[in-house]
Amino acid sequence: ATRNPHQPEFLQAVTEVMESLWPFIEEHPRYAEQSLLERLVEPERVIMFRVSWTDDHGTVQVNRGYRIQHSMAIGPYKGGLRFHPSVTLSVLKFLAFEQTFKNALTTLPMGGGKGGSDFDPKGKSPAEVMRFCQAFASELFRHVGADTDVPAGDIGVGGREVGFIAGMVKKLSNRADCVFTGKGLSFGGSLIRPEATGYGTVYFADEMLKTRGKSFDGMRVSVSGSGNVAQYAVEKAMALGAKVVTVSDSSGTIVDEAGFTTEKLAILMDVKNHHYGRVSDYAERTGVHFEAGKTPWHVPVDIALPCATQNELDANDAATLIKNGVLCVAEGANMPSTNEAAKAFEAAGVLYAPGKASNAGGVATSGLEMSQNAMRLNWTAEEVDNRLLMIMQGIHAACVQHGTRADGSVSYINGANVAGFVKVADAMLAQGVI
Ligand code: NDP
Repeated sequence: ATRNPHQPEFLQAVTEVMESLWPFIEEHPRYAEQSLLERLVEPERVIMFRVSWTDDHGTVQVNRGYRIQHSMAIGPYKGGLRFHPSVTLSVLKFLAFEQTFKNALTTLPMGGGKGGSDFDPKGKSPAEVMRFCQAFASELFRHVGADTDVPAGDIGVGGREVGFIAGMVKKLSNRADCVFTGKGLSFGGSLIRPEATGYGTVYFADEMLKTRGKSFDGMRVSVSGSGNVAQYAVEKAMALGAKVVTVSDSSGTIVDEAGFTTEKLAILMDVKNHHYGRVSDYAERTGVHFEAGKTPWHVPVDIALPCATQNELDANDAATLIKNGVLCVAEGANMPSTNEAAKAFEAAGVLYAPGKASNAGGVATSGLEMSQNAMRLNWTAEEVDNRLLMIMQGIHAACVQHGTRADGSVSYINGANVAGFVKVADAMLAQGVI
């Protein structure tokens, strides 16, 4: 804490991981040798830079850009870029730390990183977004490379922004290799990458439900957020027979007792992806109920899928969900549940999956995009989707293997942390003190 003052999110993520790893490390003391844990919580490199750009009124704006290169132990740094006013060094350090374990869990050769800016894309014209992305790329380009660091999208960085940044990086480096994933299909993107995080979260939850002889069929589901991850979580949950009753954004929550339909989801995607609008605009277009300023957690459901942002679900929300009989909580977002909320779910016997396990489908499919680029070929949507399903099933199995308690129940928190840690730690120990 003294080395990282004013970094509450980073300390929260480190505390969660270290608390759950501790009993394992006591049993396997070789993992405490060579200051391994101290090295693991220190990013290999932190890059912070000025991003200046000119808005539509001719005024020069200044933002701060970051790239956290946390660990290259098992492969090139890999992790998304986030553009949101809440972005700080602490937020990106927590995300890069988590990403390192998540990427290890996928079993693909990817290290951990994260980056972004406090730039707020809301209300900006397309030309402003492009100028910002190009200014951001004019510094980022010297730190990325197909075998060094391969960023992707995250909050506020979708296909449009990835295209602008990847285009500028390509121009400046005069190289066409894969320095970005989540690219458009016309320049090396992979089918199913946009869907992967949302689909993967539902696949993971389905595996958890199977352990209790249940499935999504006929279940009531709440989803938070309404961006990339949320949209495809809604789509896959519906496809598996569930009734999705909520989505949200930072302005409030849609509560739709009739449940989402394919037609309603198409309208939500149009509002969010083409008009960059709010869920209240969606409510106006469809006539469904909108609760300003509320989160979805007071709505009684069988399955909750938090897909918006960190710390969006606290101990009170967890208590409400538990009181209302929630069976399963699978995180599409990164660290949406506070540590207290996560512990409450486990204590109540809820099937609870931390984001590093359940949302790993996005980065796994980014790994598949890198493989396709390296081989210069494209797999079909079916092939990518099948691989995604197999990877999610593999992560579930790893969590069960490392997280099963003496009484036979499974802590997915412990399972995900131990499984990810062992892979990174073994690689670090083998490569000496660097
Ligand atoms: P998007 O930008 O597409 O959507 C983000 C959603 O979360 C929006 O609905 C947004 O609402 C809401 N949100 C963001 N910040 C806040 C906030 N401070 N309070 C309330 N709501 C907020 O991002 P993604 O869907 O890509 O990402 C969502 C989450 O999933 C993030 O935690 C991300 O790290 C995680 N994730 C994403 C992956 C991916 O492949 N995209 C992979 C793995 C994890 P609003 O528009 O009002 O801000």
